Amino acid sequence: MGIIELEHVNVDFSDRDKDTVHAVHDVSLTVEKGSIYGIVGFSGAGKSTLVRTINLLQKPTAGNVRVNGTDFVKNGKQVIETKQLQLARRKIGMIFQNFNLLNETSVIENIAFALKHSGLKEKEITAKSLKLLDLVDLKDKADFFPAQLSGGQQQRVAIARALANEPDILISDEATSALDPQNTQQILTLLKKLKDELNLTIVLITHEMSAVKQVCDQVALMQRGEIIEKGSLRDVVLHPQTELTQNFVGGSGEVISTLQSLKLDKLTENEAIYQLVYSMDNVTKTIVIDLYRKIGVEVSMLYGNVELLNGEPIGTLLVLVKGNEDKQQETIRFLEEAKVAVTRLNEKGNLYD
Ligand code: ADP
Repeated sequence: MGIIELEHVNVDFSDRDKDTVHAVHDVSLTVEKGSIYGIVGFSGAGKSTLVRTINLLQKPTAGNVRVNGTDFVKNGKQVIETKQLQLARRKIGMIFQNFNLLNETSVIENIAFALKHSGLKEKEITAKSLKLLDLVDLKDKADFFPAQLSGGQQQRVAIARALANEPDILISDEATSALDPQNTQQILTLLKKLKDELNLTIVLITHEMSAVKQVCDQVALMQRGEIIEKGSLRDVVLHPQTELTQNFVGGSGEVISTLQSLKLDKLTENEAIYQLVYSMDNVTKTIVIDLYRKIGVEVSMLYGNVELLNGEPIGTLLVLVKGNEDKQQETIRFLEEAKVAVTRLNEKGNLYD
């Protein structure tokens, strides 16, 4: 049983004079306790609407929502009482792209504010707020105002505030989207640390696959309200099932722009381009030489890259292989047996058909 279980969740928005928008359509997913679950997709895909059903900030029109073993919604009907829902919501923290801090009050007051209804005495609230600031490495900024901090520091304050009521779940809605690469990195590292140290469950919505690749255990790809692919990060990156996933993962953006900048002539009958994605652990470094020696095809390298996938090194190569169609099929078989994810592309970087 997961800590978050969504079954056949739908969210429809209907305006009187407009057509109904199916913002979320038949989404089922399970988030395991103590994991980071990434929900990726372009803007408008339905990511925010979907995660807002987890704490019922958005009521689903159909489906089931269960959190921490408690039924929130069954068959599209809220089954948790308002009072209980209020308590349950405290155990689900949220952070956003624009931090949502109170700009007129100091950093420590921003956090103390979240503890107003905790039943703690003022002294205890101050002590706890400082402890939370320490957790995000900002104890020395307690008396600063948000505007005096960098974006990354403001987001860390927002994280400390979101953790004030000791939630089991943290929902991160595009929390790094407004940050520069360095601050993004800091926030992602912090989220991973919180997962490890507090056994926190994190649902991370983003349009940036790079963020997902760095920290997520599981990932779901959303398009037009539906989940079009989901699974472990490794499976989704190494064996993408759809073109959208292929475009999101495996450095494909770079692969396509590399191919376009090369301005290759149309491929002849005896040429094929492959994108190869592989785990560095189980693929020997001689794979390209092996293709020449064992299959007799000529291989030219067009692009190469290694990146970390939640800490595991993953290689991406783009190669041009010369050989007749039989040899191309042999090449594909050989690579797949070597546990390389092979995608055949045309000279423009689109899927070969
Ligand atoms: P994402 O988070 O992936 O960018 P959203 O969940 O914000 O996507 O939006 C999904 C779709 O639902 C969009 O077409 C959006 O315009 C629509 N939508 C979101 N909220 C509302 C609302 N309150 N009323 C009507 N349509 C909405």
